[in-house]
Amino acid sequence: MANEKTYAMLKPGVLERKIVGEIISRFEKKGLRIAALKLRKIPRELCEQHYAEHKDKPFFSELVNYVTGGPVVTMVISGEEAISTVRKICGATKPAEAAPGTIRGDYGAVVTKNVIHASDSPESAAREIKLFFETEEVIDYPTGDETYLV
Ligand code: UDP
Ligand code: MG
Repeated sequence: MANEKTYAMLKPGVLERKIVGEIISRFEKKGLRIAALKLRKIPRELCEQHYAEHKDKPFFSELVNYVTGGPVVTMVISGEEAISTVRKICGATKPAEAAPGTIRGDYGAVVTKNVIHASDSPESAAREIKLFFETEEVIDYPTGDETYLV
């Protein structure tokens, strides 16, 4: 049993398509909880920092243009093994390879617009949460018996 926090971000298409509630609901139903939540437009520099590991990739500028082109929902999600669990619920990076039942499998068609970002490791989660939230914005609170979930 390892209670973890992870960072997730709904990309601008989710706002355009008005499916924010549907996506967040999947994490809640799984037994994870929202520890921080914000709607914002992120500055280019912050987006470039966030995706720094990809700065030399051919898709980098298209990705940054897309993610800074409209509002995003930034979140911290917490719960048992939240980092790997959230990644599994999101599915494979390329929507064409993402299994049906996953968010990317069910809602996406194009890799740049693959609906959601989620941290891929404890190190990324710590770095990304710090990049997008102040310490006091991340809230621990009881939500009842969660022992049967996840
Ligand atoms: N991406 C892209 N083209 C690619 C690979 C990735 O546009 O060939 C985008 C995609 O939106 C992805 C993001 O870059 O979510 C970050 O890529 P990464 O390999 O870290 O995938 P993720 O961790 O999001 O699954
Ligand atoms: Mg990644």
